[in-house]
Amino acid sequence: MDNKYIKYFKFLFIFCIFIISIIYSFSFTKPDIILDKDTIDVKVFSNYDGINYKAYLYDKDITDKINISGSVDTSKVGTYDITYSYDSFLNSASKVLKVNVIDDVKPVISLDGDLKVKMCPHAEYKEIGYHANDNYDGDITSKVTSNISDNKVTYSVSDSSGNSTSTERILNRIDDQIPSIVLKGDSVINVNLNSTYSDEGAVAEDDCDGDISSKISVSNNVDTSKVGSYEVTYSVSDESNNTTSITRTVNVVDSSVNTSNNTDTGKNESGVIYLTFDDGPGPYTNDILDILKKYDIKATFFVTGIGSDSVIKREYLEGHTIGLHTYTHKWDIYSSVDSYFNDLNEIQDRVYKITGEKSKYIRFPGGSSNTISKSYSIGIMSTLTKEVENRGYKYFDWNAEVGDADTCAKSSVTNKEACVLNNFKKSLYKNGTNVVLLHDIKSYTKNALEDMIKYALSNNYKFKKIDDNTKTMHHHVNN
Ligand code: ZN
Repeated sequence: MDNKYIKYFKFLFIFCIFIISIIYSFSFTKPDIILDKDTIDVKVFSNYDGINYKAYLYDKDITDKINISGSVDTSKVGTYDITYSYDSFLNSASKVLKVNVIDDVKPVISLDGDLKVKMCPHAEYKEIGYHANDNYDGDITSKVTSNISDNKVTYSVSDSSGNSTSTERILNRIDDQIPSIVLKGDSVINVNLNSTYSDEGAVAEDDCDGDISSKISVSNNVDTSKVGSYEVTYSVSDESNNTTSITRTVNVVDSSVNTSNNTDTGKNESGVIYLTFDDGPGPYTNDILDILKKYDIKATFFVTGIGSDSVIKREYLEGHTIGLHTYTHKWDIYSSVDSYFNDLNEIQDRVYKITGEKSKYIRFPGGSSNTISKSYSIGIMSTLTKEVENRGYKYFDWNAEVGDADTCAKSSVTNKEACVLNNFKKSLYKNGTNVVLLHDIKSYTKNALEDMIKYALSNNYKFKKIDDNTKTMHHHVNN
């Protein structure tokens, strides 16, 4: 070959290389797609708005030529691919965005009943109820686990995305209720002097501990060899040391001979009833006077500072005995001898102004056997019982009572009239004198009075008022 051809081929070869390299550089240069992020998290049920992106080819912005494919269902937790691509005959490229639809909201546990539950110390917790709800899974109550410890219940639950929550119910283990204690037998019992007193006991029940009758302790100082009014006290404590007590009054009565402990010369009167009304005059006293008038019965009224003068006047004019109870009926009259007599003089003045006559008959508030006076002055009753006699008075306690100020007065007693009547019947002694304590300020005493009278008359009792021939009736002095 001559040189001319060699030159020509050389040129052609270089030209071809040149053309090929131009084509090569166009066809193998990829567009540059730039995504803000490779991966994004989107909360379930929120809106997915896409992301920012750009695309360039040979420094030219081709963003608007980008094709986006794929979709995101934000109502379903999962991972979705979104593809950003550019396609042309020579230059193609694509990038993928991973979209994670996530649930990061904790479920909610709601408890039925109180968050703090009071219960007995050893009681077993019984589930009150609960519910669990999740924003994504819905009702997941069945997935709740509960763990009961001594002082709380812990409830836990996780949703399908692993979001977990827990809540507590506090168990306030406490017994602050006092037990209930009930006497077996009557709350007032009369026993004869020198007889045997056998106590019937009591039963006790606690809200947490159940029957605790066996834990009752009894203090019983009944001395049937001495006339007097005694109290038997039954006390009980539950395991949490809530303590309660109840008392029974036991009257040791000498129903055959002398019931008095002084030198009074009155005689015992078989089958005689002295109705004695304390604390009035009150709103029912006139009705009581009407009933007494109807049966021509004389009674004794131990009056106080309350009520109308005209009622005391009527008591006096209709032949009843006016006795002195107290002016104020406050316990602090037992603070001293002076304070007692100041009060007594006041009620004596009232009676004297109304009737023109002084009374020498006294009834101590609470009776001479009362122990409340101890907290005002130790030994005051021992002093006063002597001192009133030194000053010419005679005091009267009682040996029969209807319970109208205590046992029958309780709100739990529905038929107070029947209670009063029943106590009246039970407390009478056919072979002895009966000084009956009543209160003319009680409606049910007034209501039961006629039945009491009828019962007594049909059983051949006689009614009398206290006068100088009446033998004094004295309790055992306990202070
Ligand atoms: Zn009274």
